[in-house]
Amino acid sequence: MVLVTGAGPVGLTMAMSLKRLGVDVRIIDRNAERTDKSKALVIWPRTLELLDIQGCAQAFVAAGMKGSGARMLAGGREIVRVRFDTARSAFRYALLIPQSETERVLEEELAKLGVRVERQVDLHSFAQDDHGVSVVLDGPDGRTENARIDWLMGCDGAHSAVRMGLGAQFEGNTLRSEWMLGDVRIDGPLPQDELTICWTEHGVLALFPIIGGRFRVIADMGENVADAAPPPTIEELQAVIAQRGPAGLTAHDAVWLSRFRINERKVRDYRDGRVFLAGDAAHIHSPAGGQGMNTGMQDAFNLAWKLALVVHGRAKPQLLDSYSPERSAIGEQVLRNAGRLTEIGITRNPLLQELRNVAVSTLGQFAMVQQRIVDQLTEVDLEYPDSPLTQSPHGAARHPAGGARAVDVALAESDGGHARLHELLATGRFAVLSVGAPRVALPGTLQALATSATAAQTDHYDSGHVYLIRPDAYLAMSTGTTDIGAILAALAQVGA
Ligand SMILES: Cc1cc2nc3c(=O)[nH]c(=O)nc-3n(C[C@H](O)[C@H](O)[C@H](O)COP(=O)(O)OP(=O)(O)OC[C@H]3O[C@@H](n4cnc5c(N)ncnc54)[C@H](O)[C@@H]3O)c2cc1C
Repeated sequence: MVLVTGAGPVGLTMAMSLKRLGVDVRIIDRNAERTDKSKALVIWPRTLELLDIQGCAQAFVAAGMKGSGARMLAGGREIVRVRFDTARSAFRYALLIPQSETERVLEEELAKLGVRVERQVDLHSFAQDDHGVSVVLDGPDGRTENARIDWLMGCDGAHSAVRMGLGAQFEGNTLRSEWMLGDVRIDGPLPQDELTICWTEHGVLALFPIIGGRFRVIADMGENVADAAPPPTIEELQAVIAQRGPAGLTAHDAVWLSRFRINERKVRDYRDGRVFLAGDAAHIHSPAGGQGMNTGMQDAFNLAWKLALVVHGRAKPQLLDSYSPERSAIGEQVLRNAGRLTEIGITRNPLLQELRNVAVSTLGQFAMVQQRIVDQLTEVDLEYPDSPLTQSPHGAARHPAGGARAVDVALAESDGGHARLHELLATGRFAVLSVGAPRVALPGTLQALATSATAAQTDHYDSGHVYLIRPDAYLAMSTGTTDIGAILAALAQVGA
């Protein structure tokens, strides 16, 4: 039994992914109801691809709306504009969907699998030994439950009780700048399907569309705001929009007004024995780039298939050792990028502002630079080149390289009813994919761990190679057709 603590987007993704792969799971949350706040607004294409492997991406698409691009204005002038239809994914848009809706859809998907979130249940304490974890849960009506579980998932957010119970340091700092947040309706000339970011001499203003004709407004207010300042009024928000935003915008009907400070923190290790951390429990950072929730959900996808293979006795427990190095490296990368973007946006130094605006407006005209921005935002550039699961033997394909994202392709022969690679990966097993080469006959001992398939020549994979693809659609390794033994050896090393 796995206990998932926290039913935010990360805990729900974790529970859904585990249950889909046949793992017994409980999920608890101390709150009586899920959030009604819009918080994280974007699901990026890579997360949609991973939800698609789970068979539920369309449920999210139906609940959101498609964001077609982002534009950056400086001094009222557009200095760069990127289009998400250039995303290197089957999903060529940013899915704009409030976090409250993301959590609703996840909870409904989980319910379809027969798992209900146990609400008003608080993880009080836990202790682990070699064989399991003993947990104390405070339930509704003051009831206490002592339970024994096999694995504990700390998906309990920035103030994680699991992280604190492990005594893990949340290393980093809190930025001094104060931010204003509004979830409001806006009348005036503002695109309904584009993110608008305004860099001004007074600070940054971001305007993001939300379904239902609403917009998320975020503005940095500098360092001189008192710590316990009350939420902004709609008039204060309007004044900032009028000062920094495109002309002619009127904000009204606020659903949510708030202030926040940015924390940039991360744990070193996402795992301690039978206890794992994921999402905000493991890393928090600036909302610039909108990567927080997506990164957390991808932590869950990374871990779920590994734990499922171990729980079902198909893989050695050592497979779990790859979770922390892989996701910690991604966490550091996201923290670094979001931090840099924030720092650039909030500088008050007029000379640096001028340099920034000239540099971005010049570089931003190049298609290659625009594509880099889109690749980074859409998270299709996240890779595991240094993972213990990644190998690059002599004779490996040049494209894609070990650790890279494995793009979905049509399979040459329908395999057990699976027409596409990502459908095959939904079984939670590795795929041994021959591209423009004969199918690999897997020995019976490896068939619980992997399945073989073939694809015709495609732009996405060098032909004449065999690819070992992980269940979360990353490439573990590839070989030429005469070196298939190396792939079988890599699988045997993972297998129980
Ligand atoms: C104002 C605001 C704006 C944001 N905007 C963006 C954005 O634009 N883009 C973006 O990507 N991210 C944004 N974020 C961040 C995003 O909301 C988080 O990254 C995301 O919610 C993390 O999900 P999580 O599941 O890890 O944690 P959470 O959503 O925090 O969920 C943790 C859950 O654990 C539960 N819990 C905590 N302790 C216990 C316990 N002891 N026992 C049982 N349950 C417990 C909590 O009740 C909660 O439901 C924003 C956040 C805030 C606050």
